[in-house]
Amino acid sequence: MSPRIDPHAHSTASDGTLTPVELVRAAAQAGLDVVAITDHDTTAGWDPAVRALPPGLRLVRGAELSCRWYGEEPAVPLHLLAYLFDPADPDLTAELARVRLAREQRGERIVRLLQADGIDVSWPEVLAGAAGGTVGRPHIARALIRAGLVATTTEAFGPDWLGERYRLPKEDIEVFQAVRLVRAAGGVPVFAHPRATRRGRIVPDELIADLAAAGLAGLEADHEDHSPAERAHVRALAADLGLLVTGSSDFHGAHKTVRLGAFTTGVEAYERIVAAGVTEVASG
Ligand code: AMP
Ligand code: FE
Ligand code: FE
Ligand code: ZN
Repeated sequence: MSPRIDPHAHSTASDGTLTPVELVRAAAQAGLDVVAITDHDTTAGWDPAVRALPPGLRLVRGAELSCRWYGEEPAVPLHLLAYLFDPADPDLTAELARVRLAREQRGERIVRLLQADGIDVSWPEVLAGAAGGTVGRPHIARALIRAGLVATTTEAFGPDWLGERYRLPKEDIEVFQAVRLVRAAGGVPVFAHPRATRRGRIVPDELIADLAAAGLAGLEADHEDHSPAERAHVRALAADLGLLVTGSSDFHGAHKTVRLGAFTTGVEAYERIVAAGVTEVASG
């Protein structure tokens, strides 16, 4: 039987709801052979996840970098998965720290906007909900649910709330710089959900070709935010450009409904990632 590989999952180190320890246990219970921990803009979950690895489970250490493409006005936000890089690389760690701070500043500004409209949320409450992890809009969504203003995270991301009316940009990493930083740190960059039109604007295929020339290694095709046509398009583009193709759950615990292993990656793509990364895959 081919191994079950899910290379995109979040923990409480960012906007997931399982701790890194709970995440690896849940991955083993879900019958996965390989899981990646890919929290937004942080490696804080790596060590606790490695220490808790159940026997037989392998862990790919990674992160999901908040990036932006400035080729259009306004600039387009996008996510880059980075696998098996050196977590001590000074240039990459400095950029991650800068983005985390920018996320806090944006989060606090969003809370101020909400408060200015008389909405009962507070920044200390949001920060407490993030519990030291990378702050994101899901933590503000939690506060809106607690205040009884919306029923679900999905509703909190609607246009009346964090999706539009109270949406503010954050200072992300310029995407070509991000690809270079990840490669320079010995890592493997993979474009997360590149055709997810339901999340907002997407970038043109020409940009993806330019990113491939700059060092991008792969594209995430199978993802719940892609329609079947979008998945097929991403696969064809990856084949054209010689990029590897992944599929993953993008598990966020109770912040989303998707389950671990809902989408998976083939062993050939996994082996290309492992061969190209400077950090070892951890084994339980
Ligand atoms: P941020 O990184 O702060 O801009 O928030 C984006 C995060 O919110 C994503 O990584 C997802 O985890 C989550 N998210 C985005 N859109 C939705 C949605 N429609 N429903 C639930 N969660 C979402
Ligand atoms: Fe997220
Ligand atoms: Fe993402
Ligand atoms: Zn993700």
